[in-house]
Amino acid sequence: MANIFFDHISTTPLDPRVLEAMMPYLTERYGNPSSHIHDQGQQAVRAVDAARVEVAGLVGAKPQEIVFTSGATEANNLAIKGAAESRGKKGRHLVVSEVEHFSVLNALLPLRNRGFEVTTVKADGDGKVDPDDVRRAIRPDTVLVSVMHANAEIGTVEPVEEIGRIANEREVLFHTDATASAGHIPLNAGTAGADLVTLSAHNFYGPKGTGALVVREGVRLESQIDGGFQEMGYRAGTENVPGIVGMGRAARIASEEMGEWARHLGALGKRLREGVASSVEHLHFTGHPTDRLPGHVSFWVEYAEGESLLLFLSVHGVMAASGSACSSNLKGRDEEDLVASHVLRAIGVPSDICTGSITFSLGKGSTGQEVDHVLSVLPGIVRRLWEMSPTYLDYQKKIQQGG
Ligand code: PMP
Repeated sequence: MANIFFDHISTTPLDPRVLEAMMPYLTERYGNPSSHIHDQGQQAVRAVDAARVEVAGLVGAKPQEIVFTSGATEANNLAIKGAAESRGKKGRHLVVSEVEHFSVLNALLPLRNRGFEVTTVKADGDGKVDPDDVRRAIRPDTVLVSVMHANAEIGTVEPVEEIGRIANEREVLFHTDATASAGHIPLNAGTAGADLVTLSAHNFYGPKGTGALVVREGVRLESQIDGGFQEMGYRAGTENVPGIVGMGRAARIASEEMGEWARHLGALGKRLREGVASSVEHLHFTGHPTDRLPGHVSFWVEYAEGESLLLFLSVHGVMAASGSACSSNLKGRDEEDLVASHVLRAIGVPSDICTGSITFSLGKGSTGQEVDHVLSVLPGIVRRLWEMSPTYLDYQKKIQQGG
């Protein structure tokens, strides 16, 4: 059976060169960077410092601006809560977009309970946030604007440079969640006017369990984990040295090879996009047609349930994502969340005929044969789902009756 992983937006395989860089720090170099008096500790300090340089290089930041975390979720929490709490005296208002990941949206909940106000800026039908809407949402008491760099579910790249400029002009901190984009498309924290940038190693061929928040010089945050004084006092706890070393290596590889990957993924993505467009009827692409992540193809098909499409694809050895991978497993939320993710709702997909989307996200190792395999099985899967769908059959009847 085929074994086609087209779900690189959820995670990427570890690059063998990254594993090689990490191995000594999983075996003979086991020092704790806080024990910097002895040789093992010093080796760990040097390794973490070297990784800081590489990660900073990926986004045009300075090494001392990198705070290593356990991943994107922690980095987003530190950015949102840390900025709000440290600036609470200036004001208690935040601006975010409605298409942010839950690690941003849900980090706002405890702040709301403590009297912070949040303005949620809408996205258009392509998932794009209008910088003018951000401008209008900023108030004298606004302390932070958070708009993601790229959306994992629909692939849209947001106009962060313009949004950053607006936030800078109004002296409001700007955070951008670059989890889905870092290592895949260029991002320069300075050009984007970003004071805070979230990064995640496992999204660019690094290890899981390591991420970073870029905290630009001069920006103060309230630490969210109390304890020792690691990571400039922002993140207590012994560093994940092997993970950090892996993130550093992955960042260097991405800086060097990103352009080549984007060309490869751009061509394969085009082939997949054109292929599904010509072979599957009633298909609607999601996200921006051009300002999107390379190798990211997302769509929904009328009357074909996203989760079922996913299941049938997996029977054919194809692994993809449906809706938002992170939203289909929510506790305590209304049922609608299970079928239409907040992102799909935000871009206005009609919930009566759209019951979930498909996201194919290709990786640097993806091939044309894999794309062709997907194109050979997808139309048959869709037909089968339609045959099983009473609503689709009703719709067909109506068409035949001329209604
Ligand atoms: N931000 C974005 C944009 C994401 O897509 C995700 C999910 N990969 C996260 C944050 C959270 O990442 P993680 O679960 O790795 O912490």
